[in-house]
Amino acid sequence: MLREMDQAFVLHSYARNYINFTHAKGAQVWDDQGHAYIDFTSGIGVVSVGHANERVSDAICDQAKKLIHVSNLYLIEPQARLAKSLVEKSGYDMRCFFANSGAEANEGAIKIARKYGEVDGEPKRYKVITLKHSFHGRTISTLKATGQEKMHHYFGPFPDGFVYADTIDHIASLIDDRTVCVMIELVQGEGGVEPQEKARVQQLAKLLKEKDILLAVDEVQTGIYRTGELFASNLYEIEPDIITVAKGLGNGVPIGVVMTTLKDIFSPGDHGSTFGGNYLVTRAAYEVLEILESYKNSGGLDESMLYFEERLAGFVKHYPEIIEKSVGLGLMRGLRIKSLELLNTLVENAFDEKLLVLKAGRNTLRFLPPLTITREEMDEGFARLEKAFAKTGE
Ligand SMILES: *Cc1c(COP(=O)(O)O)cnc(C)c1O
Repeated sequence: MLREMDQAFVLHSYARNYINFTHAKGAQVWDDQGHAYIDFTSGIGVVSVGHANERVSDAICDQAKKLIHVSNLYLIEPQARLAKSLVEKSGYDMRCFFANSGAEANEGAIKIARKYGEVDGEPKRYKVITLKHSFHGRTISTLKATGQEKMHHYFGPFPDGFVYADTIDHIASLIDDRTVCVMIELVQGEGGVEPQEKARVQQLAKLLKEKDILLAVDEVQTGIYRTGELFASNLYEIEPDIITVAKGLGNGVPIGVVMTTLKDIFSPGDHGSTFGGNYLVTRAAYEVLEILESYKNSGGLDESMLYFEERLAGFVKHYPEIIEKSVGLGLMRGLRIKSLELLNTLVENAFDEKLLVLKAGRNTLRFLPPLTITREEMDEGFARLEKAFAKTGE
């Protein structure tokens, strides 16, 4: 009945699985039949400190009873506190603009770049170079920024000024006197959990600095300790001009941030958001950062990352006929599967074993568990994954 209701009234833009989840805790989610699933997806890298995290839930409840929203025309205390926390923890000399999603954060990044490229009100430089296999969002301009032609079939005409490079090394040859920005993911999430090579990224960053071209790093998926540091940019030891953040920051409340070293790029009226950075979401996100920073400092995060990687290496060893290689960084991981057919079977088998996993490009079985996943939850998840793999041989 619920299924029929959904199908009748909600647009069919997702290949939706009609399981009905009712509650969750940590890395476990229960359906309306009482079955417990192990969640190796955290809602696509969103629920970073685990489902129903007590500190985050308490902060949300407390704030909801006091004040949720006044508009950005007034000072918003938790927004200022979150901005300070993000900037100070990042080590970058930046300011923040608050939006509601990853795509919106990237829209903000593109607007910053376009304004930076203006001279006397004229768009002298406006081109943004992105990578093939990238993913930057679903709005018209972030869709165009996304370097996957298959996603540009409908919805045109798109805004001009997006150029796609095959690889990081290919970027230099595409730069011309209209180029203002390069936007990249350091680990392509949707594109197959493919980390870029550190030396190449550093070389690119240096080149862009010399040419006064902005480097925007889309950390919507890699950010908020997903790869082990607050930002993957910290791990790669680069200094981007723009960083975008979203998924893992709010533990499920919708939030997006664009951070930039161009502290005075916007004047009142240049950019805005009705909901962006309101009391509720910024209170929650502040709590998420506090939890993750102390978890990182305790060594717990690094331990889990190492363990998760080791367990996946075990699968590569045992299933060479199914797995090509293990990819990813930190708790953003994937197993490259030898065919799309096998990948689909594995995802289905895992679901039957009550394990939630994801797919990504290049036939990748993708894992984005909550960063605070326990050893017991990991072991239970991998036991189920083992069964899912064993079943492919049946
Ligand atoms: C998910 C994602 C986006 C889009 O975020 P939304 O919140 O869905 O708009 C953009 N960039 C990257 C790298 C992502 O993984």
